[in-house]
Amino acid sequence: MLIHSAAVPPFYKNGYVVACEATREAVLIDPGDEVDDLLGVIGRERLKVLAILLTHAHLDHVMGVGRAKAALHVPVWLHRDDLPLYEATVEQGRMFGFAVERPPDIDRFYEPGQSFTFGEYVVDILHTPGHCPGGVCLAIGRAESTARELFVGDTLFAGSIGRTDLPGGSHPTLLRSIRKVLFAFPDDAVVHSGHGPDTTIGHEKRTNPFLVG
Ligand SMILES: [Zn+2]
Ligand SMILES: [Zn+2]
Repeated sequence: MLIHSAAVPPFYKNGYVVACEATREAVLIDPGDEVDDLLGVIGRERLKVLAILLTHAHLDHVMGVGRAKAALHVPVWLHRDDLPLYEATVEQGRMFGFAVERPPDIDRFYEPGQSFTFGEYVVDILHTPGHCPGGVCLAIGRAESTARELFVGDTLFAGSIGRTDLPGGSHPTLLRSIRKVLFAFPDDAVVHSGHGPDTTIGHEKRTNPFLVG
């Protein structure tokens, strides 16, 4: 699995390109204001992106969707429960003091239990509400294996969890999503968060102050 990430101020939100080393097929996750870096990698590495996959529809995770879609011409996927947030992207921008263009329409909504294939890899879509209603985590690994790396958006961070004070957020729902869905993965499963460094499920189980005990 080839993983490229980029983050820029002011949000330092991690966008990811995840590619199959054998076929160069790839998915683009959460293109935000670092989208030009990610498009640069895609061009240089001659990756064939099949889809733009959104973990949720907060401003910092979607403000690069327009540029990504214009460059790649591939479908944009989102959980249906985050459509109201996505449709309010311009208003979200105004809240943070940014003039943001209306993003392109969502092409497809994730279905329960859905998986995608790119090259020799699969992406399992896991609904993990709490940070926002339509939050999902993307579990990616080789098709013939059960090992997965987790792209969790703002559900879980190294040493922290997503905020739940924005519209549609719920602290108990977020804790339930993390415990039921993410903590079902083995301790050595790598976690790629929407902000900050990577971590593992085991490390967060043992040390995350929101989740120990
Ligand atoms: Zn968020
Ligand atoms: Zn974020």
